[in-house]
Amino acid sequence: MAKQRIQAVRGMNDLLPEQTPAWQAVEALLRDLAQGYGYAEIRLPIVEKTELFRRSIGEVTDIVEKEMYTFEDRNGERLTLRPEGTAGCVRACIQHGLLHTPGRRLWYLGPMFRHERPQKGRYRQFHQFGVEAFGLPGPDIDAEQILMTARLWQRLGLEGLRLEINSLGSPEARRDYRRLLVDYLRGHYQRLDEDSRRRLETNPLRILDSKHPEVQEVVAGAPRLLDHLDAESRAHFETLLALLREAGVDYHVNPRLVRGLDYYTRTVFEWTTDRLGAQGTVCAGGRYDGLVAYLGGPPTPAVGFALGLERLLALLEASGRLPETEAPHAYLVLAGEGTDRAGLALAERLRSAVPGLRLVVNAGGGSFKAQFKRADRSGAAWAIVLGEGELASGTLGFKPLRGEGEQETLDEATLVARLHQVVHSGPA
Ligand code: ATP
Ligand code: MG
Repeated sequence: MAKQRIQAVRGMNDLLPEQTPAWQAVEALLRDLAQGYGYAEIRLPIVEKTELFRRSIGEVTDIVEKEMYTFEDRNGERLTLRPEGTAGCVRACIQHGLLHTPGRRLWYLGPMFRHERPQKGRYRQFHQFGVEAFGLPGPDIDAEQILMTARLWQRLGLEGLRLEINSLGSPEARRDYRRLLVDYLRGHYQRLDEDSRRRLETNPLRILDSKHPEVQEVVAGAPRLLDHLDAESRAHFETLLALLREAGVDYHVNPRLVRGLDYYTRTVFEWTTDRLGAQGTVCAGGRYDGLVAYLGGPPTPAVGFALGLERLLALLEASGRLPETEAPHAYLVLAGEGTDRAGLALAERLRSAVPGLRLVVNAGGGSFKAQFKRADRSGAAWAIVLGEGELASGTLGFKPLRGEGEQETLDEATLVARLHQVVHSGPA
């Protein structure tokens, strides 16, 4: 009887060897980008106490209401697989006293978990690159983070990403506005869908970004939060927009842009694309001046963003900009008595002598013909050949695998020099 093969959990993807090179290239670029702006990496646990997310993200958000992977461990403690990075980052900063140094700039990258309906661009395990800056209240740091993302698109060769931006004002201004909005929406109760009716009681601001056509019509006539900002938030927003204009970053003020998370204040922004269908938001962020104190830390303004790596990689692919796989520089063909042992030692000497060399050594024997086939399939640019003849004469064969070219016979020192050239001249 055939055994049933176990499949991966739905919505949780393997990243296969043909995908990981592009991921690695993007991750390296992100690391480099963060470093270039003075952000330091923080590595956080994947599991946190459920209470952390309930408090920081908010009871009435989609994430906490229906998307969290929550379980009891063997001690009966309620734990959750992190659905996002900000909560854990703030928790760690408070716990380790990192916020006593003002102007902390941090970044992280890793898997997040949400129990959503899996579809293109929406998974149950996905990856975020996130940055957070603490203790800096001014719009300069909001602008910095937006410039950082703009630079990322440029470095990846991505075009056509659209920056939408809004201000949610102070918590007080939002509370007043909330009352206005609820009054207005009550007047159109009949036209609201079930989801929006429920949100009217719990989280009315989220109705603003409802995807329901009829609700959207109602919302079009609603009072706008932007028209009811407190004076300080308005000035903050105006300065941020001026900074973006000065830096040459195009933006679209979208008064309906609200974030699902309760702790946002003032700036919110999203980078979207129309190349990925319904899941078009690649990066989202904003200011959350109230969260640190709310979680028991010193009052500390903060701003950050998170970028979805699956969506970024999908966008790179759709734009024909996926970073290329780095093929081996050379494949070592070994045929004949004693060549496999000599070959291993030779390969180690070559790797020591040529830093950066990507060298695959033939394993498992095989005829010259079979090994050249494997060499070809490996994508290597060159074959190094060690047969019985070469072993006896202390020489090596060196043959180009791409395009024309005869096999040369070289001594080891000359081979090392040639390999240096291959490694440093980039793709042949
Ligand atoms: P959406 O409206 O698409 O559900 P969100 O508001 O829940 O997004 P955030 O919590 O702001 O998303 O997360 C930041 C980014 O992380 C998103 O812009 C997106 O790129 C990515 N992201 C969020 N949820 C998922 C998911 N389930 N699968 C893949 N990427 C995701
Ligand atoms: Mg979501």
